[in-house]
Amino acid sequence: MPEMVRWQIATVVRVRTETPHVKSFEFAVPNFPKYRPGQHVDVRLTAPDGYQAQRSYSIASAPDGPGNLELTVELIDDGEVSPYFHEVVREGDQVELRGPIGGPFTWTTGQGGPLLLAGGGSGVVPLMSMLRHRAGMGEDAPPAALLYSSRSLDEVIYREELERAASDDDGFGLTVTLTRQQPEGWNGLSRRVDAAMLADVLGTLGHPVLAYVCGSNGFVESVASLLVDHGLPPESIRTERFGPSGT
Ligand SMILES: Cc1cc2nc3c(=O)[nH]c(=O)nc-3n(C[C@H](O)[C@H](O)[C@H](O)COP(=O)(O)OP(=O)(O)OC[C@H]3O[C@@H](n4cnc5c(N)ncnc54)[C@H](O)[C@@H]3O)c2cc1C
Repeated sequence: MPEMVRWQIATVVRVRTETPHVKSFEFAVPNFPKYRPGQHVDVRLTAPDGYQAQRSYSIASAPDGPGNLELTVELIDDGEVSPYFHEVVREGDQVELRGPIGGPFTWTTGQGGPLLLAGGGSGVVPLMSMLRHRAGMGEDAPPAALLYSSRSLDEVIYREELERAASDDDGFGLTVTLTRQQPEGWNGLSRRVDAAMLADVLGTLGHPVLAYVCGSNGFVESVASLLVDHGLPPESIRTERFGPSGT
């Protein structure tokens, strides 16, 4: 069986709390195949009675980065797999995973840009892999903008890393919109992604733009159709849907 679809044992080497509902997990996976930013893995858990549950998680790390394979999991309270990651999994534990999986929703440096990345909630995860990959290009990196829709500032994943990257002045711009709760004195955006917001962010980029949109079903449908209305060719828009609920 090709390496790509083979289940492998992955050992958790580090757990990091990102936000009150999100944790990142670094895995040591011997001989994990080369992956592209935007791809995901399947994770399989097996209970002592043999019951198995399987879910997909995007790869957050960059293929050329220094670290291990990293996944970032948002806790869904009544879920099966994400609470297991949050409440049970510790450093040294092992899970089964297979991958990398996914074709169209990938970006590598050879594809150029400028890049418009739009993420809702944990939909930022594969976009982070792309941004980490882009950061490795140094001066050759194409302009990139991340439009990130989050319920509140506390729930912005990778906040420090994103703010640092945006202050680096290397052609990366960060726009955060907080849809449910804004901190005292917040003077940023506080509404769902709309046409005016997208027009502003697209205005910071040159043409032609490659767009990657990831999040809940509702977020992806809405942002992708706004981008088409804005005049982006449909073939320049790539989407990944994580699940049912809205941001
Ligand atoms: C290609 C792909 C990549 C993904 N990457 C990530 C990732 O990087 N990080 C991440 O946290 N998740 C990611 N997901 C979602 C993930 O696969 C699971 O669906 C999610 O973790 C919920 O699983 P669960 O077992 O905890 O909940 P389940 O037991 O599957 O569901 C419990 C309840 O939550 C609802 N639900 C399921 N998924 C979601 C969701 N995403 N948002 C809101 N409600 C939901 C269900 O309808 C159900 O009512 C990805 C999904 C896909 C298809």
